[in-house]
Amino acid sequence: MSLDVPDLDRVVREIADEMRARPDRGEVATYIPELAGADARAFGLVVIDAEGRIAAGGDSDEPFSIQSISKVFTLTLALGMAGDRLWRRVGREPSGSPFNSIVQLERERGIPRNPFINAGAIAVTDLILSGHQPREAIGEILRFMQFLAQDSSIAIDEAVAASELRTGFRNMALAHYMKSFGVLDNPVDFTLGVYFHHCAISMSCRQLAQAGRFLAHSGRNPLTGLSVVSPERARRINAVMLTCGHYDGSGEFAYRVGLPGKSGVGGGILAIAPGKASIAVWSPGLDASGNSHLGRIALEMLTKRLGWSIFGA
Ligand code: GLU
Repeated sequence: MSLDVPDLDRVVREIADEMRARPDRGEVATYIPELAGADARAFGLVVIDAEGRIAAGGDSDEPFSIQSISKVFTLTLALGMAGDRLWRRVGREPSGSPFNSIVQLERERGIPRNPFINAGAIAVTDLILSGHQPREAIGEILRFMQFLAQDSSIAIDEAVAASELRTGFRNMALAHYMKSFGVLDNPVDFTLGVYFHHCAISMSCRQLAQAGRFLAHSGRNPLTGLSVVSPERARRINAVMLTCGHYDGSGEFAYRVGLPGKSGVGGGILAIAPGKASIAVWSPGLDASGNSHLGRIALEMLTKRLGWSIFGA
């Protein structure tokens, strides 16, 4: 369904107004101390359509910690470096487990189920790090985000990275465990340092929606006209987002929203309507699976009203 700009603007603004007024906002993540201070009343939504028209509502220019949404972009970078060899060290099946679960790793001999659970993302980060100093790898990931969003102001929130470096014991356990199976090539501290830093990238909904546009348009960023990945790779990244992008809430997200999407514990979600739009939403309160509570509800309303679910109206 194609909409004229006023319609899309109106839908986005109505949803943002409704979300800002709702009392049920979920729980802000506190296990990374620096995230605990996020304002649960915040809500932002940005949709960028195929023509580049931007519909924005709420706190659309407020930067937030993108956390696990960064895993979409590290997966893209790692596939560019290693191609299909990447799939030797990480699977691409939904885990049905929480984002930081360790149980599957033992059964599957250190090979994480997919690149979006923490263990999988740490393995992907390790691949990006190989042959580089940690600082260079962090710079490479940050520059990739800036390039995609065409915005050099995008930065890492060092306080968030430091907070996770101090308290990320579960991720340290996952990384050491994978190292024991020979899945990581680099010193664990180096790999985790890069992982915590890319999770700590701060972006607004507007910047994030821009950065995701290549996934909505067969691998080409319409903003620059440059091809980021092949159409086939974009399709496959979207497939992994659909099946694994919301941890053990991925089935529910597909059922309710019907779009490839990736959430982060900072409360953001990047959702892709293939051929139509790149969408970013942010509300810091999370549901029991660690996904943005109002973010998911807002996307469900949006896809329903616009008929954008990939599974039909
Ligand atoms: N940096 C977070 C962690 O590793 C990311 C989790 C998330 O956003 O889901 O715990």
